[in-house]
Amino acid sequence: MSTIRFAALQETLNRSTIKVVENEKRSVLFGKNVFNKYAMQQYLTRAAYESVMNAIDKGTKIDRKIADQVAVSMKDWAISKGATHYTHWFQPLTGATAEKHDAFFESINGSLAMEKFDGEQLVQQEPDASSFPNGGIRNTFEARGFTAWDPTSPAFIYETTLCIPTIFVAYTGEALDNKTPLLRALQAVDTHATAICKYFDKNASKVYATLGWEQEYFLIDDALALSRPDILLTGRTLLGHSSAKGQQLDDHYFGSIPARAMNFMQDLEQECMLLGIPLKTRHNEVAPNQFELAPIYEEANLAVDHNSLLMDVMQKVSRRHRFKVLFHEKPFAGINGSGKHNNWSLSTDDGVNLLSPGKTPMKNLQFLTFFINTIKAVYEYEELLRASIASESNDQRLGANEAPSAIISVFIGSQLSQVLDELENVTKGKLSPQEKTDLKLNIIGKIPEILLDNTDKNRTSPFAFTGNKFEFRAVGSWTNCAKPMTVLNTIVAKQLKEFKKEVDSLIDAKNLKKDEAIFNVLREYIKESKKIRFEGDGYSESWEKEAKKRGLSNHKTTPEALKVKISKKTIDLFEEMEVMNKIELEARFEIDIEEYTKRLQIESRVLGDIARNHIIPTAIIYQNTLLENTRNLKEIFGEEYKNIAKEQIELIMIISNHITEINSLSVKMIDERRKANKHTALKSAEMYCNNVKPFFEQIRYHCDKLETMVDDNLWPLTKYRELLFTR
Ligand code: ADP
Ligand code: MG
Repeated sequence: MSTIRFAALQETLNRSTIKVVENEKRSVLFGKNVFNKYAMQQYLTRAAYESVMNAIDKGTKIDRKIADQVAVSMKDWAISKGATHYTHWFQPLTGATAEKHDAFFESINGSLAMEKFDGEQLVQQEPDASSFPNGGIRNTFEARGFTAWDPTSPAFIYETTLCIPTIFVAYTGEALDNKTPLLRALQAVDTHATAICKYFDKNASKVYATLGWEQEYFLIDDALALSRPDILLTGRTLLGHSSAKGQQLDDHYFGSIPARAMNFMQDLEQECMLLGIPLKTRHNEVAPNQFELAPIYEEANLAVDHNSLLMDVMQKVSRRHRFKVLFHEKPFAGINGSGKHNNWSLSTDDGVNLLSPGKTPMKNLQFLTFFINTIKAVYEYEELLRASIASESNDQRLGANEAPSAIISVFIGSQLSQVLDELENVTKGKLSPQEKTDLKLNIIGKIPEILLDNTDKNRTSPFAFTGNKFEFRAVGSWTNCAKPMTVLNTIVAKQLKEFKKEVDSLIDAKNLKKDEAIFNVLREYIKESKKIRFEGDGYSESWEKEAKKRGLSNHKTTPEALKVKISKKTIDLFEEMEVMNKIELEARFEIDIEEYTKRLQIESRVLGDIARNHIIPTAIIYQNTLLENTRNLKEIFGEEYKNIAKEQIELIMIISNHITEINSLSVKMIDERRKANKHTALKSAEMYCNNVKPFFEQIRYHCDKLETMVDDNLWPLTKYRELLFTR
């Protein structure tokens, strides 16, 4: 009998639920462990508070004296809440979060001791973080990178540590993390969107990008998860025959949440409340043991931090409930994988959503301006947007029936399509008073009503307008949102910059009125970006053909998709918008490519190990049972045995065949790996993609066949039905 599998199952069956009590209202818990505006008002002097607010709103510098004050207050606040340590909390290019704790405690003369934390420690640190990927920006022998306080994302206490969100940059100035480019992109979109807002409101002063993510995940009992080397080491199952019942009946989706999962969620939500993560929704997703949660949207930088923090907290809380959270985009074959929808919009500092129509025709024209410019930006940079979500694991989900394909397109719904069609006919140059009135009353004026009823959501679209925001659905569940958000905000910033140039030149050179100029430019944009708009079934084969005809990219694999990250067009874009320079882009390209290769290398090794050291020996044991049985039958029945043991003999042969295939495929796979390892970077990634990866499916096929034949008692790997239906 396979001991690990059955021991794990036994443990799972004996689990009791860990009840979670809710003593306090969520609103009381919310933000309790965050050094937010409210806490700052209580703990900071007026001058310090205003200085921090100015840094947040206007990006001004906080001087050293004030930083000292802030640090001391922050320390007092943190200690009053039981914190003993502090850390700069950052997001290196591994995609995860990083922390290195220091105690507040300091000894004086070896006999006395006190708690200390000053401005210098708050503002800047030099963690010995030389082992993070840096894509050649930094040589390890001069591992000089530092972290610097990001006051726009408030410090928080997790467990007993004060966490200070920071950027991570090299002394030479290059960003070594995901946050720095994001902050620069948000700065760019603020600058250029505010300039556009001024067409409509002279007093406009600031524009924020907003992000509301929706996080999908699987919850698997941790004993079961740990019984599988593939889940343990790669986050997904590399083999396993599909369960007789999967998601066919759709009986999990939106169903009542299983008790153990519910307790986990309550516990998690309370933790998140304390941390100021405004979680709002929770539900069962389509696949068995798959769930989703979503917060209320926030300013994009904070939302990104909150998503990264959440993923970390989920892992920790899940352990208490004896679950393992799987964020892999495709942990199980044959059922849905997990994504992370990124709902995105732009908002003024007064909280006006720029992708929501207003009360006046002018405000609706403002809406159209941002709406059409976003579509144009996606059209111009669709390949880059695709690259922003490229990873080895997301490759497995994109285009796999339940997720958008690798083709980026924009869905806006039939009614808005009609509006854009009508705007295409706006007269070139000056508009007659009649046309202006007509536009205002009959086209623009109708937009608010249209949007109220914008219900025809197309779930197959990777980038859909959903009434008052765009929803980027191709983002993987494992992805750090900073990546797609950096790209999206940068391309929209660039597009708005171009738009302003064109409108201003029509006003100056052609003597057009402001609204005439805007209509003229928008009309051309609608025409130019038409190819990116698609209202049909994004999962269909016909769309692939159609998209090809339209000249849209369809990069199904990460090595293919990533190339655009270092194209001239991309470098020009990021340098112009001051988001990243060539070195930073090349470093990220190299890191992403390397990560891709490493992940495939690990998967390939794990698969080889499982296939040869777990599956084949098991198959042989079972085959021996059959052989012995056959031999015994022969002994008793003589030549008759050929009829009596017909099935057994056949099985023995089939099993032999699968064993042979697994062995020879594994040898070939290892050989391809060896060849690929001789190369580096893109070449190696391409070889892994094209020559190593194809063996996965083939080896899996034979292993999964054996699973259907071998005695269940012997099978070493926890089966799909056990992973997915035990809760
Ligand atoms: P679904 O995609 O499941 O149908 P909804 O359309 O209701 O969900 O939207 C879900 C997400 O959209 C929520 O997480 C919400 O916070 C986010 N959202 C709503 N308005 C905005 C906005 N203006 N900017 C960014 N995100 C938003
Ligand atoms: Mg959604």
